[in-house]
Amino acid sequence: MRSQDYDRIYLSPPHLGRHELNYLHKAIEDNWVAPAGPNLDGFERDICEFTGAAHCVALTSGTAAIHLGLRLLGVGPGDTVLCPSFTFVATANPISYLGATPVFIDSEATTWNLCPQRLREAIEASLRQGRRPKALIIVHLYGMPCQLREILAIAAEFDIPILEDAAEALGARYDGQPLGTFGAVGVFSFNGNKILTTSGGGALVTNNADWDKKARFWATQAKDDAPHYQHSELGYNYRLSNLLAGIGRGQMGLLDDRVKKRREIFSWYQKHLADLPGLSFGPAEPTGGRANRWLTCVLLDPTQTTVTPELLRQHLEARNIESRPLWKPLHLQPLFAGVPMFGGEVCADLFTHGLCLPSGSALTEADLQRIAETIRDAFACHHHA
Ligand SMILES: *Cc1c(COP(=O)(O)O)cnc(C)c1O
Repeated sequence: MRSQDYDRIYLSPPHLGRHELNYLHKAIEDNWVAPAGPNLDGFERDICEFTGAAHCVALTSGTAAIHLGLRLLGVGPGDTVLCPSFTFVATANPISYLGATPVFIDSEATTWNLCPQRLREAIEASLRQGRRPKALIIVHLYGMPCQLREILAIAAEFDIPILEDAAEALGARYDGQPLGTFGAVGVFSFNGNKILTTSGGGALVTNNADWDKKARFWATQAKDDAPHYQHSELGYNYRLSNLLAGIGRGQMGLLDDRVKKRREIFSWYQKHLADLPGLSFGPAEPTGGRANRWLTCVLLDPTQTTVTPELLRQHLEARNIESRPLWKPLHLQPLFAGVPMFGGEVCADLFTHGLCLPSGSALTEADLQRIAETIRDAFACHHHA
């Protein structure tokens, strides 16, 4: 069959519900598309309610939230910020926006996130050079909680504040507590491919009331309290629109359902593809962790199969099914050439051997069957023992 014989299956497309339109409709009916309005307040309240965070600021993107969050932690020119290498570039770009430099750290094999041992090495090496890292960014990649117990203990021991990039991890938990609430500042993304979406958007959460005020101030051009336009600090235009926040309100009501569905998709693949030689699933949950399984990832072991991630990706693409390599580690990106790196083999290996499968919460049983049959077919064509 030719690829146009099928509808395309995307990696992680938006999945809207029934209530988003009501919030949009109300905003337009009330002529309240701007400035900040009831949907924005409501969306922030919804996020606080779900996460238990005391304060939430809705922003134009997760990247904007990381930028403001790092500035709240005092990151500025000449500082260094500890950051996992295995993540999307948006985790680290705001370090550069602020004139600071990242120090990259390898993953550990269970959660694929920040390795506590390497983190300690990086901090100790930095202190030996008389330089105290200004902040630590932790990421829960693919919605998998990192080794929080160990990492929080190390950050506390060396008194380094944490920015928690939970862009992919909304709805995931650790010891029952929602991710995004473990750092001094937490960040979510509502980009189009995330577990919930506002088409584009982000949020910053914190328990610090002063930081909440400051983030709102910076996000709206840092306008001083005066009748005219008066500015003493550098600001940005980062506030989410009241319209998009309306979509977010509708989406937040679906979060538990979407997490359940993504976890079921992971289990479905695992159950139906368990017999394929050299194919395994990851990452795995740490003790106390409950992932949202934003994307289902597989690894292909070259000692057991001649099927490579790229062969599999092309085979899926030929049947109009989108899949994608795992994130390419940041220490291997030309953008960050020369940046210090602690370890590196674990995440480089994941990148070489991994692939993300379609994981959208609207996938049907028939879609999953079609994807699984295509993967089986790829093994029939390309697997040689
Ligand atoms: C999506 C993402 C971001 C950035 O979020 P945007 O809303 O797209 O700016 C940051 N970090 C990670 C890990 C992400 O996956």
